[in-house]
Amino acid sequence: MSNDLTTNNAFINPYTFVPLSKKGIKTAQDKGLIGIIECSLTIDPEHPLFIPNTTCRFEYPEPTKKPAEEKHWFYDFYSYENLENAKPVGGCQWDEENAPKNPVIPGSEIRGMIRNIYEQLTGSCMPVVNETSSLFNRSLIAKKPSLLKPQNNGTYTFGDILKKQGESSFNPCKTEAECCPACDLFGMSGDESFAGRLRFCDTALNGNPEFVKAVTLPILGTPKITAAEFYMKKPTEKAKYWNYEYYYEQYENKKENKPEIFKSFDKNNPAQLSGRKVYWLGKYNLKDIKVEPTIQNCTVRPLKNGSFKFKIYFDGISNEELADLLFCLDFEDAKDGAMRHRIGKGKPIGMGAVKVNVDKITQRTYNYKDGVIVPLDSSLPRSEHVSMRDAKKDIFAYAVPLPENEAALVAYPTLSDVNKIFEWFANNRGNINKPEYKDTLSELHGDKTLKKDPSPNTRR
Ligand SMILES: [Zn+2]
Repeated sequence: MSNDLTTNNAFINPYTFVPLSKKGIKTAQDKGLIGIIECSLTIDPEHPLFIPNTTCRFEYPEPTKKPAEEKHWFYDFYSYENLENAKPVGGCQWDEENAPKNPVIPGSEIRGMIRNIYEQLTGSCMPVVNETSSLFNRSLIAKKPSLLKPQNNGTYTFGDILKKQGESSFNPCKTEAECCPACDLFGMSGDESFAGRLRFCDTALNGNPEFVKAVTLPILGTPKITAAEFYMKKPTEKAKYWNYEYYYEQYENKKENKPEIFKSFDKNNPAQLSGRKVYWLGKYNLKDIKVEPTIQNCTVRPLKNGSFKFKIYFDGISNEELADLLFCLDFEDAKDGAMRHRIGKGKPIGMGAVKVNVDKITQRTYNYKDGVIVPLDSSLPRSEHVSMRDAKKDIFAYAVPLPENEAALVAYPTLSDVNKIFEWFANNRGNINKPEYKDTLSELHGDKTLKKDPSPNTRR
C-alpha cells in the first residue's frame, strides 16, 4: 500500500535499484548472424536531452575577468563543431542565438545506454564501479571504530562486496573465457581486452533542431554511495542501522539488561548492495527548477525535440543475443510503447528520456557462386525475436512513466520545511548516539514513497 500519496509528506526518490540476483554467463550457441539494425530515437519533449560538446565551455551569462575557478560555465550541445574555432574573439563566448545546427548523439552514448539495459536483462557484471576503492563510512555511533578491521591483512573494498551478492559474484569480468553476457557481446577492456561483436554509429538528426535556450542544472549526484540506507539492502529483518562495516539489531538497554547486538560484515558475509541504480520517470518542469548559477553547477543548452536515426552493425551473434539486444532497443513495445530509455545529463531532474524504435533488421548471408562470394541481404521480422529473460519484469517496473499521482512526487529527499538533502538524511538516522533508520527505500516492486518527515516505526 502506498502511504501518504494524498498528503504533502510523501516523496519518491529519483532513483531506485534493479536487484542483483544470479549472475549470467555467456553461452556457447551458434553465433552466425551478421547484419544491421536500423533504429530511430525520439526525444520526449517533456524530458529534454543534453550531451555536452566539451571542445569549449563559455562563461555564462557574460564574460568576466574572474579566474577560471570562479566562473560559471555554459556547455553547448554535442556536435562535430570544434567550438574553439567557431566562436568569436575572446574565445568561447556564450551566444544565445548561435545553437549547433547539426546536433549529434555519439555512438558511444547510445552504446552505453543499450549496454546498461543489457546488463540488467542478462545479470551481467557491474563494470562501472571502482573495485579497489576501500569503503569508508564514518561511524555515527559514539566510540565505535570508523573503519572496518582489516581482514587478512587487507582492506575491505568494493570488489570484496561484489564478490558475494546473493548467489553470485558481480565483479567486473577478467577474462574472455569466463565473462558475462554483456562483456561477451559488447566487449571489455582491462587486463584482457577484446572488441565486441556490435558497432554503434553516430546519429543524424531529422529536420531542424529545437533547443531549450539555457537551463542551469542543480548540483547532481548527491547523495553518494555512503547513503547506506538507500544503496544497501537491509541486512536482517531486525536490523535498525547499518553501513558497509557492520549492522546492529538492538539498542543497548540498561534497564532490561539487554546488550546491543553488533554484527560485522566481512569477506565471507559481505554487505549486500541494493542493486543497479536506475531512475524513475516522473513529472518535471524545467522552468520550475530555479537554480542560481554558481561555481559548482553549470548551464547547458538541451535539445527539446527531435528524432535521430542510428545503425548498429552486428557480426557473429546468436538468435538469443539478437532477441535480447532488440529488447534493449525497443522494449518489445511493451506498455503500449510508453517505455523510455534515459541518456545524457540531468537524469535525476527528468532529462534525457527517449523512445527508441527498431525500424528494420537486415541479415546478411554470403553465397559462393561461380568462384565469387555474393552477399545476400534479407529482412528479419521484428516479432520473431522475443527475449526470454526473467529480468524483463524489473525493467518494465521502472522504465515506464509513473502514473500521474506518483509522477508529481519525484524529488530528492528534503524535509518539508528545509530544502537541504543532508538534513533529511541526518533526520532519518535519528539520534547520533542511537542511530536508527526511520525510512529506507523499498525494493523495486514495493511501495515507492518515502516520508519528508520520517518518524520511527511507521514502516517495516
Ligand atoms: Zn562482464
